[in-house]
Amino acid sequence: MSFCIAIDGPAASGKGTISRAVAARFGFEHLDTGLLYRAVGQLVLQGTEPLEAARALVAEDLRSDGLRTPEVAQAASRVAVIPEVRAVLLDFQRAFATRVGGAVLDGRDIGTVICPDAPVKLFVTASAEIRAERRFKELLAGGHDVTQEGVLDDVRARDARDAGRSDAPMVVATDAIVIDTSGMAIEDAVSAAVAAVDAARA
Ligand code: C5P
Repeated sequence: MSFCIAIDGPAASGKGTISRAVAARFGFEHLDTGLLYRAVGQLVLQGTEPLEAARALVAEDLRSDGLRTPEVAQAASRVAVIPEVRAVLLDFQRAFATRVGGAVLDGRDIGTVICPDAPVKLFVTASAEIRAERRFKELLAGGHDVTQEGVLDDVRARDARDAGRSDAPMVVATDAIVIDTSGMAIEDAVSAAVAAVDAARA
């Protein structure tokens, strides 16, 4: 039987950590759908046309070095506004979502477009300042040359592009549970997510 857990939210909201923890807890497979857009963005930065890059995507591209850089994140959100790119990536995500044994997908449009009938939908968020602080620390630890103000600008630009696009914008699904991690320990956010899944499975 398939069981899709849809976890959406903006950059550095904690949705990746929550998704991995929930998948491990329930023995489900996890797909970070942002990696698909990052891999396309990276190929575009290397000179490939966006649609051609989306069509040519192979599993190995999702393990490519450098997918987590700020440049690739911005490139990802620029290719993500192109409806034809999104359409190419849709089938793979839907197939993953309906796999037997259960799946956790995280992204921006999982509960609204990829799995509109998901039995559990979470929208994980936090203030832009707190998300920028988290991402700044991560990037710094990864050896990137960044400032906190620069990261905040990037986070705001990406939020605006992701929420403002006409095709599959980042929006809270009407039936999603919102988890605001601004003032929350990550363990508490994971517990809230696990409780939501338990309730849906009961
Ligand atoms: O989640 P992550 O920050 O890795 O996503 C990178 C970018 O990919 C986002 O800013 C967004 O533009 C795009 N994306 C999307 N839809 C998804 C997942 C990611 O448009 N389901």
